[in-house]
Amino acid sequence: MKLIEHFVGGKIIPGSSDKKGKVYNPATGEQESEVRLASKSDLDQAVEVAKKAFETWSLKPPLQRARVIFKFKELIEKNSEELTKLIVSEHGKVYEDARGSLTRGLEVVEFACGIPHLLKGEYSENVGTDVDSYSMRQPLGVVAGITPFNFPAMVPMWMFPIAIACGNTFILKPSEKDPSCPLRLAELLSEAGLPDGVFNVINGDKEAVDAILENKDIKAVSFVGSTPIAKYIYENSAKNEKRVQALGGAKNHLVVMPDCDLDGAVNGLMGAAYGSAGERCMAQSVAVAVGDIGDELVSRLSKKAEALKVGPGMDKTSEMGPLVTKEHLEKVKSYVDLGVEEGAKLVVDGRNLKLQGYENGFYIGGCLFDHVNKDMRIYKEEIFGPVLSVVRVKTFEEAAKLINDHEYGNGVSIYTRDGDAGRTFASKIQIGMVGINVPIPVPMAFHSFGGWKRSLFGDSGMHGMEGIKFYTKLKTVTSRWPSGVRSNAEFVMPTMK
Ligand code: NAD
Repeated sequence: MKLIEHFVGGKIIPGSSDKKGKVYNPATGEQESEVRLASKSDLDQAVEVAKKAFETWSLKPPLQRARVIFKFKELIEKNSEELTKLIVSEHGKVYEDARGSLTRGLEVVEFACGIPHLLKGEYSENVGTDVDSYSMRQPLGVVAGITPFNFPAMVPMWMFPIAIACGNTFILKPSEKDPSCPLRLAELLSEAGLPDGVFNVINGDKEAVDAILENKDIKAVSFVGSTPIAKYIYENSAKNEKRVQALGGAKNHLVVMPDCDLDGAVNGLMGAAYGSAGERCMAQSVAVAVGDIGDELVSRLSKKAEALKVGPGMDKTSEMGPLVTKEHLEKVKSYVDLGVEEGAKLVVDGRNLKLQGYENGFYIGGCLFDHVNKDMRIYKEEIFGPVLSVVRVKTFEEAAKLINDHEYGNGVSIYTRDGDAGRTFASKIQIGMVGINVPIPVPMAFHSFGGWKRSLFGDSGMHGMEGIKFYTKLKTVTSRWPSGVRSNAEFVMPTMK
């Protein structure tokens, strides 16, 4: 069976540990490969390599670093089919969706190509008589990224293109469920001319993550995953004096106002709730029906959810693929069971879906609940599967309160034709990313991605200028070039004259 190893110092290297994880093809349910899980010493050795590489990479002019990133961009484009197939084969999502996620990652690479401009500092002449001041941003050193299974290319690419363009060196610890695409990206970076040791991939589980958190030479940690682990990463990175951004889970609401374009809202909800089998942190898993729109909304949604074409990701007719693992499939099914027990009305039940020829694949059909309320666990908790809950409320204010009271604050959308409602919503809602008549409001690479509340621990989001700031530290220089006149010692707080 194929064994997936680590990538350190510009090449694939075997790890020292005998611990291995299983990697499945979710479409067939077959195990396709094994992945080596790193020990602490594997991680520490990779950090030594990255630390050495930092000495020279950080001194390269940003323009030269940008040229490597630009070449990498071309290689992703050239190899996009292979990369997409790797995502589909281990994650399960449908081909076009996987390709779209690769493109969203590529856009961050394009953003990072502008690094000479993005790193420009500030200069003030004559902050005092004959005294000038300038500020610059310098790289941190070795930084690490720990990423989830649901976007094996895009989420790592939110991080490393910017980190390395800023002059840092990088250790990526991707999800052990779908590690092949990140490894291929490492090879492409080498092919693009990235010096050995600047980008390294360490495969692993909690042991590798803990080794990252404890290693004194790792200066910053970027994490994306579930909320309990995000909190753990945040607390332990801070305890070990690291800079940290830790993005967590979500429960996103899409508010359907009675005046909206209902077809637009229904189509938006179908893609946002069931696309990628609901395994997106920006999936819209709650539809909030305002006023009297509920019956019509549920009637239209149920017809479409029943007609969803579920199948293998490589089948061009599939709209939704399988879930990532059997364990995750069982977890999602158990949430549907729970919703029934809690008294929600299961309008569309996808639990018994069986696909001919793919009987062992990790499939579930789209599920739709009506009359969900805020006290139910299926409302409060992230299910991360193709399960859409409809909550009915009387007013816009009630919808906004429901959303603001939720512990998560990643994404939210409203469908309305009323500019006043749209503007008030954008202004008042306690959520990091807001859509108005847009179902999945994922910011572009040159803006920044990040939720509020328990969807993000730390101060900065990913990519855009938040990314540049996260991966650099600010230095401000105040300088005077004396021309003959020497000043005497001053014993009071200096103020500019
Ligand atoms: P996860 O939290 O299980 O795993 C994320 C990473 O943490 C993986 O690399 C994993 O190996 C590691 N990890 C897992 N358990 C650990 C432990 N006990 N100690 C240390 N490290 C551990 O998440 P997942 O299941 O891979 O991904 C799905 C989750 O990610 C969902 O909650 C989803 O909402 C979230 N997510 C959030 C965003 C966002 O931007 N906020 C984006 C994508 C995914």
